[in-house]
Amino acid sequence: MNNDRRKVVLIGTGMVGMSFAYALVNQGGICNELVLVDVNKDKAMGEAMDLNHGLAFAKSNMKIYAGDYHDCKDADIIVIAAGVAQKEGETRLDLLQRNTEVFRSIITPVVKSGFDGIFLVATNPVDIMTRVTYELSRFGASRVIGTGTSLDTARLRYLLGDYFTVDPKNIHAYVIGEHGDSEFVPLSQVMLATKQVSEILSDPRNSYTADDMNKIEEQVRTAAYKIIEAKRATYYGIGMAITRIVKAILGDENSVLTVSAKLCGEYDSRGVFIGVPCIIGRNGVKEVLELSLTEDEKEKFRSSAKILDESFDGLKM
Ligand code: NAD
Repeated sequence: MNNDRRKVVLIGTGMVGMSFAYALVNQGGICNELVLVDVNKDKAMGEAMDLNHGLAFAKSNMKIYAGDYHDCKDADIIVIAAGVAQKEGETRLDLLQRNTEVFRSIITPVVKSGFDGIFLVATNPVDIMTRVTYELSRFGASRVIGTGTSLDTARLRYLLGDYFTVDPKNIHAYVIGEHGDSEFVPLSQVMLATKQVSEILSDPRNSYTADDMNKIEEQVRTAAYKIIEAKRATYYGIGMAITRIVKAILGDENSVLTVSAKLCGEYDSRGVFIGVPCIIGRNGVKEVLELSLTEDEKEKFRSSAKILDESFDGLKM
């Protein structure tokens, strides 16, 4: 990892990729070199021009240009947002085989370039595409990360903050499991500051209910479908989530984020890439945090992991 020059290569300059790039430029100071790569070279070039024209208004300077796989050699992070976007009514798992072929055409030249940094995958179905990246690259598991349930967790904290009328930053809660239909919120782990929310719910003096918690969980689970119905795709939120993870890596923050990481015995699972809280620093996943789940929550986690394992096993690699 080069601390003086922090270089990010973005592969896939569509809505998600460029929302990330735009957030990166506007937040400033996270990296100082950004390379845009897309199968559509004109698109990458146009996007680089457009971003460069805003640099005079940005917080800090950055070198931004359209590039190629050769530019990956000395990069710190490769962000992958290339692929086909989820269509209305289509599940994330439906996208799997199509995107696996796209990934083969990306990972092979990236590895060939001599790249030895960290892969960060956003393409859906993200847990499986992260595992595909791991298999194709043969990198160590700590250096292959997916955005996992980081966005879902942000959505959850926003909704809970709204419900309890508390700053979302003081809500500690995670969405874990597949970034998709089998994801869930372990209620036993939801805290308002250091107070257990389950304790608040069982206090007869207030009007908060477990039923409302279930509704919020459902809102989080169906958020992407709702946004896609309304405006065809989701991109700003995920763009900011990618920026947050990149910042945690390049800043060696050791921040806890719910990324898609490989499990090696944690949560009684092995081999699967799935959304779990992890400590993220300069070398990627420093540690997978194992939450003390209830028996019911453990069962939900196991069935989510099973869905991901089965989809991966059905893949032609
Ligand atoms: P998009 O269609 O706008 O952009 C995809 C880009 O990938 C296009 O510019 C396309 O030219 C490029 N591309 C396609 N094949 C390529 C290849 N072989 N090499 C290089 N580039 C290639 O789609 P989008 O809305 O930006 O979505 C991108 C991905 O992000 C989708 O898989 C979508 O489902 C996913 N997504 C993930 C999350 C999440 O939480 N992880 C949230 C929203 C969207």
